[in-house]
Amino acid sequence: MSPSRLQSVALLAFLLAAAAALDARQQAQGPPATQTRVVLLGTGTPGLDPDRSGPATAIVVNDTAYLVDFGPGVVRRASAASLDAGTRKGIKALDPRSLRVAFVTHLHSDHTVGYPDLIFSPWTTGRRVPLEVYGPKGLTAMTQHLMEAFRVDIETRTNADGNQREFAEGHRANAHEVSAGVVYKDTNVTVTAFPTKHAMESYGYRFDTPDRSIVISGDTNPTQATVDACRGCDVLIHEVQTPAWRATRPDTFQRFAAKYHTSTPELADLARQAKPRLLVLYHYNSSSPEELFADLSSRYSGHFVIGRDLDVY
Ligand SMILES: [Zn+2]
Ligand SMILES: [Zn+2]
Repeated sequence: MSPSRLQSVALLAFLLAAAAALDARQQAQGPPATQTRVVLLGTGTPGLDPDRSGPATAIVVNDTAYLVDFGPGVVRRASAASLDAGTRKGIKALDPRSLRVAFVTHLHSDHTVGYPDLIFSPWTTGRRVPLEVYGPKGLTAMTQHLMEAFRVDIETRTNADGNQREFAEGHRANAHEVSAGVVYKDTNVTVTAFPTKHAMESYGYRFDTPDRSIVISGDTNPTQATVDACRGCDVLIHEVQTPAWRATRPDTFQRFAAKYHTSTPELADLARQAKPRLLVLYHYNSSSPEELFADLSSRYSGHFVIGRDLDVY
């Protein structure tokens, strides 16, 4: 064997030994302490900020994702979170074709405009099974109307000449209208709906997984039910508006917001009672992120973050 070949063999043996040692160390450490991840797919509002997609949050447990709300942009953001390259997260459960279960807090358009996207785009790219969707009264009718609205598309893709005949079930969405209480349970999660106070029937959801408890508010005035749902939960994801931002809005909106949304002083009070380990702000309106941060931190000493699209907690 030539000296250079000998060196190559020695190097290969060294690398294999190093890889085996690393593998053994990883096995000794066991799986990561946290199996559950919260992925913010959209932290936006009805406002048209291109950096903040419409409200959509994913709770990812092991290899399964559970969505809460499907605002505009939900499918592209889920796809981004599923990819590996660059700053993307490589969370395979968020490949849109793997999305099977979704919960909706209420039927305002900023939370539901992504519904046909969630039904049809994954289907046309390969999802073979129906979606299971849980939410307030009106969800069944909305689902039926969407099926009717897209009738030409569905018929064309599933007729004798269609390219989706092989998985004709993939465009279906089974709507489940819920009331307060446990609305879903499988080996990864128990999901409990609690009533919130918004302009229509609305719910927040608590997720209990093997390692974490996560509460998401949807759009709401502060409520005791939200405090009770959290009670020291690991993560509370809550909407908020600053008084300075509200003051710039028309009177009609200010009256609406006082009844159906949450201000920073109100959220500070609520969080002091709910005591989340981490408070994540989403669906927020403020003059700027700095103004929001300063306003809440002057009122609340707990750990909080201003959520951004594709953040993972
Ligand atoms: Zn709303
Ligand atoms: Zn909203």
